[in-house]
Amino acid sequence: MNSLASSLFKQRHNGAEEIDLNPFTLAFRDGREPEFLNNYFKDSLLQFRTAFLLLILLYGGFGFLDSIIVPELKQYFYLIRFGIVIPVFLSVFILSFFPFFQKYWQSLLLISFVIAGTGITLMLVAEPENYAYYGGMMLIFSAGYFFIKLRFFYATIAGWLTVIVYNIGAIFFSGSDMELILNNNFFYVAANLIGMFAAYNIEYFARRDFYLNQELDERKAEVEHANQTLEKKVQERTAQLRKAKEQAEQSDKLKSAFLANMSHEIRTPMNGILGFSQLLLEAENEEERKEFVEIINKNGMHLLSLINDIIDLSKIEVGMLNIQNSEFSLNHLIEEASVLFRNNSKVQEGKIKLNIYKSLEEGDDVIIADRTRLKQIFINLISNAFKFTNKGMVEVGYVLRTHSLLCYVKDTGVGIKEEDQEDIFNRFMQANLTHRPEFEGAGLGLAISEAFVQLMGGKIWVDSTPGEGSTFNFTIPFQQGTQPLFKYLKVDNTTMDTNWNNKVILVAEDVSTNYLLIKTALKKTNVGLVWAKNGQEAVDECRKDQQIDLVLMDVRMPVMDGYEATRQIKKMRPGLPVITQTSYAMDGDREESIRAGCDDYISKPFEIKDLMEMIARHFHLEK
Ligand code: ADP
Repeated sequence: MNSLASSLFKQRHNGAEEIDLNPFTLAFRDGREPEFLNNYFKDSLLQFRTAFLLLILLYGGFGFLDSIIVPELKQYFYLIRFGIVIPVFLSVFILSFFPFFQKYWQSLLLISFVIAGTGITLMLVAEPENYAYYGGMMLIFSAGYFFIKLRFFYATIAGWLTVIVYNIGAIFFSGSDMELILNNNFFYVAANLIGMFAAYNIEYFARRDFYLNQELDERKAEVEHANQTLEKKVQERTAQLRKAKEQAEQSDKLKSAFLANMSHEIRTPMNGILGFSQLLLEAENEEERKEFVEIINKNGMHLLSLINDIIDLSKIEVGMLNIQNSEFSLNHLIEEASVLFRNNSKVQEGKIKLNIYKSLEEGDDVIIADRTRLKQIFINLISNAFKFTNKGMVEVGYVLRTHSLLCYVKDTGVGIKEEDQEDIFNRFMQANLTHRPEFEGAGLGLAISEAFVQLMGGKIWVDSTPGEGSTFNFTIPFQQGTQPLFKYLKVDNTTMDTNWNNKVILVAEDVSTNYLLIKTALKKTNVGLVWAKNGQEAVDECRKDQQIDLVLMDVRMPVMDGYEATRQIKKMRPGLPVITQTSYAMDGDREESIRAGCDDYISKPFEIKDLMEMIARHFHLEK
């Protein structure tokens, strides 16, 4: 049956074999059955009721024939029709208005079918010679299979049961001859077979329609869902684009503001330098001259730090920023960074107290990190703290955590509003860019500091309450070192011995202004100077003049550069201290200096005071 049916339907409908049905009962095997039955019931109810009403009328109507054909049996037949079959039909019809009907309706229809057939059989037993009742039986089959909406499986049972009932009646009770019974059986079996195939087909296609409709609904739902997702995606994308556009506009605005600000930042010190250098020519007395020079110097320093920031930023932008690790004392580094602020007017006037908190003992505080960058971060943060604090204190310090150092700069200044706390780390962004013009700054310091911290493998963040103050925290991985590369000796300014009349310094420097600067700076120390205009001359001088106590070595020089010269000098006189003067922007200089064997390095432009201290340290070490 299965293969017969499937080959039958395969021909009729491509893809129908995908439907998973029990070939005998036609029930869905994939869980759709309850829903199908529910639908089938709802769709069939009207037709079933109409069919039953009509059948009641017909079953009753044929009673008219009884009175003509078999008036003598009329009462008996009427009893069958009006006393048994029609009441059964009517009851089932009435039951169909109750909710439980749906559960039993197919069984009730099956019973109705068999009872209607049994009714006709009874008539046939009583009146075997009359053809009209054979026809009646055919009508029962056709109504049972096609009209009352009995499902294939139930109809088949009912159909064959009826045939069996007929045969029992005909063979055992009617006494009609075998030929007639056989003849009738031919018709009834044929009617049943036709009914079965037709009912099978009808139900199969009803189920296929249901299946395809469901599939269609599913696809429709999928398409709808895809549509919705698509729509949502489009909306999301639109929102993203809008945001990107806003960001681009914002960044555009920031850049314009940055340029305007930068132009102001550069022009202001330039103005000071150019203006006061003209005034210097006309200065009336020594005091005025000193004041003007100080202003020029201050503005120059300011400009220098701005240029350094811009260079750093460009390096960050092109991804050229490298970490140069070395071993150094963290305590000394913090001292160095904060010492610059001891002379700050707010400290001098007693408005701000500068505290330093070092949690590691001298000796334990040697770490491996990028010293220059770390110092720069501290200087940026301390300088901000001073800029935004008018009274109270600024504290610089660090504490050791499990695998990292937590460094901080804390102030009791104006604080930062919650909504600005993330933005201030963006380049060009000043929290007060639009609303607090009284604080100067290019807005680069924190962006640069953040890039440095991240490069070192740490994090930076701010805790702040407006009106109370801010704490800038950053972490760096803690890697303990053993030996600081450059020895740091604290030299007390007041007792610094700067009478070096018995010392000789060799200055290797190709630019005469720079030599002049050093010469003038060192004049009051009475130190003896030898000027070498390139690396080769420096080497020659050292070979020639055993008196030289220290070398100040420029890096970029014609003929032979400072590194090569240092290498050769160190080979000749390992004990002779060599200090390289490096230019800030070049990252590798420090490491290159160390490799070449230099004892110390100072970046240009340097503070005269720093140079003096460094030289003093080495003279002191020598002793
Ligand atoms: P700049 O100081 O040149 O403006 P920064 O990147 O260093 O640039 O700082 C960005 C902004 O962050 C500052 O303009 C200021 O609004 C805010 N800020 C930074 N440090 C502090 C601080 N210690 N207290 C209050 N505000 C600060």
